[in-house]
Amino acid sequence: MSKLAKKVVLVTGGSRGIGAAIAKRLAADGASVAITYAKDTNSAAAVVKAIELAGGKAIAIQADAANIEAVKGAVEKAVATFGRLDVLVNNAGTAIPKPFEEATQEEMDRVIDINIRGVFATTQTALKHMKDGGRIIMVGSAVGERAVAPGLVPYAATKGAVKMFTQALSREVGGRGITVNNVQPGPIDTDLNPASGDWAVPQKAATALNRYGHVEEIAAMVAFVAGPESSYITGANLTVDGGMNA
Ligand code: NDP
Repeated sequence: MSKLAKKVVLVTGGSRGIGAAIAKRLAADGASVAITYAKDTNSAAAVVKAIELAGGKAIAIQADAANIEAVKGAVEKAVATFGRLDVLVNNAGTAIPKPFEEATQEEMDRVIDINIRGVFATTQTALKHMKDGGRIIMVGSAVGERAVAPGLVPYAATKGAVKMFTQALSREVGGRGITVNNVQPGPIDTDLNPASGDWAVPQKAATALNRYGHVEEIAAMVAFVAGPESSYITGANLTVDGGMNA
């Protein structure tokens, strides 16, 4: 039997990049999948269609992670559609790379709103519905643990917050058998961090494997943490970074 048969998963920011790969992988493992997205309706519809063509079930919900009411509504809609919620993947996130002294207050607020406030609100709403044995999975960042390059100060600070949110929350929900883990990607080839261009050169060089990662390599770790074999892993920061932080 598929590892996630009869499970319902919500993946925030699931229309492109890492989130889309996670949505497709968890659907392939048997889960019904709800994704959220901010703007790109066509990409969200394409993910739903790909899952359906492969025989799975999926819906897309427009909900900007910076809009707390929209985020709460997305969780409620996922539960109303599929009848339950077993796994939450807090993937939606953004970075606005630039020197800290040039960052505007609006830019810093946007990064905090999406990467922290949205994660708090989504998780709190999800926990109201999640049964014992559920899974909360963050997509943090390797730079939430080790700052390898300049230009990412507010982003790294928010991902450091995600790391401690994970550890602290694991202490509160462990009694219900709910695990909370933080998958920390290194440089992964997406629209947010393309493997081509000047910005990619030092990131690639910083990895032990001397390459960018693929979205499927993050989805594989998320699938493991979402599945039954990870039942004794909680409060953990699981870095998937080609050795960047080694
Ligand atoms: P992309 O920008 O490629 O994709 C982001 C996805 O999230 C899209 O589906 C997008 O939807 C959605 N999204 C963006 N903003 C919001 C929002 N405000 N509310 C809801 N959904 C939103 O990013 P990645 O796939 O690269 O990143 C995904 C996660 O992985 C992020 O948390 C990021 O910090 C983390 N990460 C990425 C790394 C990398 O190298 N790529 C490294 C370390 C961590 P839409 O299409 O509608 O905009």
